Amino acid sequence: MNSATQQKPAAAPTSADGNRKRIGLFGSTGSIGTQALEVIAANPDKFAVTVLTANSNFELLIEQAKKFRPQTVVIGDESKFQTVKQALAGTGAEVMAGDQSLVDAASLEHYDMMLAAIVGFAGLRPTLRAIENGKSIALANKETLVVAGDIVMQQAVEKRVPVIPVDSEHSAIFQCLIGETRNRIEKVVLTASGGPFLGKKPNYLVNVKREHALQHPNWNMGAKISVDSATLMNKGLEMIEAKWLFNLRPEQIQVVIHPQSIVHSFVQFEDSSIKAQMGLPDMKLPIQYAMAFPQRIANAFPRFDFSKSAQLTFEPPDIKTFRNLGLAMEALYKGGNLPCVLNAANEIAVYGFLRNRIGFLDMTEVIEQTMKKIHFIPKPTLEQYFESDGEARSFAASLMNL
Ligand code: NDP
Repeated sequence: MNSATQQKPAAAPTSADGNRKRIGLFGSTGSIGTQALEVIAANPDKFAVTVLTANSNFELLIEQAKKFRPQTVVIGDESKFQTVKQALAGTGAEVMAGDQSLVDAASLEHYDMMLAAIVGFAGLRPTLRAIENGKSIALANKETLVVAGDIVMQQAVEKRVPVIPVDSEHSAIFQCLIGETRNRIEKVVLTASGGPFLGKKPNYLVNVKREHALQHPNWNMGAKISVDSATLMNKGLEMIEAKWLFNLRPEQIQVVIHPQSIVHSFVQFEDSSIKAQMGLPDMKLPIQYAMAFPQRIANAFPRFDFSKSAQLTFEPPDIKTFRNLGLAMEALYKGGNLPCVLNAANEIAVYGFLRNRIGFLDMTEVIEQTMKKIHFIPKPTLEQYFESDGEARSFAASLMNL
């Protein structure tokens, strides 16, 4: 698709399990994964889970598998294989283990849609494999598009695979674009809550610790994305994600701080009309929307109440203080392997911060130095993305003596 008009989103294929869509839930033990299981449990006539995967949280994975009875269960950590296998003996589930099994599971026949809810670069290979096999994708794992968005989206077009966003901002844009296939987007505006440190300056941020950064005011999320929200890197990653999902030029993507997290994003068309999608901050809604698309499913989620005279406010982001957003914008504009390098350095920096190895502001230094150090490749192959990721990780880790 080109940026002049938008691609009409294809509906996910119908299920081979009666009317139920069979979900392959990759990253089932995380924040998105567990909320997706709540949606599935509430709609047993619409969804079945046939694949569950986790990295190391074998206890929760076993519990989930006993409850949802998938055909395949994958644990990344091979040392947990026997424990999971024994616990699920007699359930009929095939148990697999190891990183390669996470990728192989993406080729399995017995699911229709992958909910890509693995965190970080680790989600890229399974998602690519699912697309190769013609599976619809409900995409939470934004890093997949940050790292190799050109290759991933090209392959999705070739395989005629719908990639439906789960990220609330992108789900909002996706919903605003329904019925607008022939109309030009002037710009999209991604809203950001501002995170727990909105309004703070570097003299405050220099002292913040892991516990503070994990306290997001509006959303309850996994540790990595919570830190990314606190640094505003998350919004930068989302700008890059939006570029690939909606085929936009960098200058068409803006960010605005909206601390109440009620408006999930805006689309402005060439006639100056602006559409927004709104609702209370609850990831179950975009998860359900992506899994059920093109249908909407009635639910009992809490509703936003206009009679409570809530104030909705908007302000520009403070890029001078939250420099990670500026670095992500640099990567967005420059392209090539720079977003991949940014992502790798960020994953390592967040890892170091979460283990109290570096301070909050040091994360920016690690990312900036890594972006300067790694050789720029304007049009990388998939192999070169993997190499850039590896080089950036090693260099970033060396800066922190990891
Ligand atoms: P969590 O950290 O809560 O969960 C991550 C999941 O991925 C877990 O199931 C985890 O398994 C698994 N995992 C972690 N590392 C690996 C690995 N190396 N290989 C295979 N599996 C792995 O993350 P979230 O649910 O918060 O986020 C998931 C994705 O969704 C991220 O890309 C995030 O940016 C995106 N997202 C999240 C939102 C949210 O509200 N949480 C909102 C919008 C987007 P285990 O538990 O065993 O470690």
